[in-house]
Amino acid sequence: MTSISPTDEQALRELPKAELHLHIEGTLEPELAMKLAERNNVSLPFADLDDLKAHYEFENLQSFLDLYYQLMSVLRTRQDFTDLMLAYLARANADGVRRAEIFFDPQVHMSNGLDFDLVLDGLLEGLRIGHERFGIDGGLIMSIIRDMPVDSAEALLDTATSRADDLLGIGLDSAEVGYPPELFGHVYERAARLGLHLVAHAGEEGPADYVRRALDFLHVERIDHGVHAAADNDLVARIARDGIALTVCPLSSHRLQVVRDVADLPVRQLLDAGVKVTLNSDDPAYFGGYIGDNYIAMARTGMSLDELATIAEYSLEASFATPEQKAIYANALADWKRIHL
Ligand SMILES: [Zn+2]
Repeated sequence: MTSISPTDEQALRELPKAELHLHIEGTLEPELAMKLAERNNVSLPFADLDDLKAHYEFENLQSFLDLYYQLMSVLRTRQDFTDLMLAYLARANADGVRRAEIFFDPQVHMSNGLDFDLVLDGLLEGLRIGHERFGIDGGLIMSIIRDMPVDSAEALLDTATSRADDLLGIGLDSAEVGYPPELFGHVYERAARLGLHLVAHAGEEGPADYVRRALDFLHVERIDHGVHAAADNDLVARIARDGIALTVCPLSSHRLQVVRDVADLPVRQLLDAGVKVTLNSDDPAYFGGYIGDNYIAMARTGMSLDELATIAEYSLEASFATPEQKAIYANALADWKRIHL
């Protein structure tokens, strides 16, 4: 592991970047979870904050998901979702995020008895205030829970149709193995007709072939995680040729034991092959760090400021921002480079 100077660490936090793989529910810090549980009279099976915190050691994706879904039950009101969004955006702002494209899991909230509109309106209000307060551009990606029945995803699309203009895109998350992308081909076809951008988690715990199938059957514009694609040279060449960005999440993959160490992630291999790799935090409250920490973790594996600035540039380019917004981000990045490179 390379040690990096406090100056470089600060530079990486200030580096203008986009966060493209962030689950808003995954930003629920234990302190806020306890506070909301009290505010909403939801009982959690933890004695206190320390007891809750002791549950954050995960053996795999499923053990994380179990806690993640349990804690989501404390989110009850529109204000809860606004507070959650603002808490995230404050942290993102401290990490140089200029644009955030944020997943949310409506099916879980609806299973908890909440209205789709309440959740969406609460999050949109958080984005609106956050834009005023921090200048961060943002959008919401409605995420399908792949291990829930496909019918439930179709029903979500029915509900969301009238609010399509308030959504940036559709995604696919949760337990991957055993739930291949093609199950959701029809759901994605419908989402595309609604004008939504298309992304999907693939190749996190699942094999490279799931990444290929997400491209073939869902026609996604970005792949979330996608690290297992690196095992297949033809697939890597295709991803590079088609300019498909991968939203890699180093601390997440480390904590979920997808890799033993962040240095084992094939980030440089993918970059060398011409793939647009981006760095993101996934579920930062659970995985020990926000996006700045993920950049710093990669710097500690020996990546230079120059390489990390290229990754930030890819993130801004691979966002679904307008050309005008992208021009503003590019200027901010050029200013950063003049100071730090
Ligand atoms: Zn994710």
